[in-house]
Amino acid sequence: MTKQKQLNVILLGAPGAGKGTQAVTISKKLGLAHIASGDLFRKEQESGSELGKIAKSYMEKGQLVPDDVTVKMILGRIAAPDCAKGFLLDGFPRTLEQAKALDRALKSQGKKIDMVLYIKVSVKELLRRLSGRWICRNCQAPYNIVELPPKIKGKCDRCGGELYQRADDTEETARKRLDVYFNQTMPLIEYYTKSGTLVEVNGEQSVEAVGRDVIAVLEGRK
Ligand code: AMP
Repeated sequence: MTKQKQLNVILLGAPGAGKGTQAVTISKKLGLAHIASGDLFRKEQESGSELGKIAKSYMEKGQLVPDDVTVKMILGRIAAPDCAKGFLLDGFPRTLEQAKALDRALKSQGKKIDMVLYIKVSVKELLRRLSGRWICRNCQAPYNIVELPPKIKGKCDRCGGELYQRADDTEETARKRLDVYFNQTMPLIEYYTKSGTLVEVNGEQSVEAVGRDVIAVLEGRK
């Protein structure tokens, strides 16, 4: 039996660019493991683990969790059996140090990042999206009180779960998270442009149009 080729993808974009929404579509369509660093940290917090406690203090302030802790968590996750066909990283890496550590670890296993999809959205639009964002506690589906309200207030259209606003989605923390993004994560655009893996997608179109573009790029049609 021939060994199937892995497809390892990074979704890059500011908080609120729509990475989470697109990641669900892509990972289902291409059979990739969806790895969202923020979700992993939130799970750790809920379980009350030591890692969760460390992460909480940073997340509450809209700051990044230290690189060593974050890298260790992600490298452990991408070693899991469900990553055999490949993985889709959502929210990681967020610093140059994390990107370099990821490349080193993959290289030592004879693997690599095949594509970096950059979902580009303006700051004005990001702020508008983040401060109106509500999420389903059960299935993580995102809503927006202005743009994409649920049919019944406070309830998820998909699964009926309770909607909540993330503590770090208030306008003040959203601004802080965007500052952090522009200072620490933007250098990654240059890093991956140099490595020849970065492809830009216009994130200001409808969710469906962004999804179509993203899949077309991944399937090599665009
Ligand atoms: P997210 O759900 O991706 O917006 O992440 C929520 C929060 O989790 C961030 O504001 C950070 O505090 C933390 N976090 C998530 N991913 C990372 C990462 N790659 N490096 C450091 N901190 C992270």
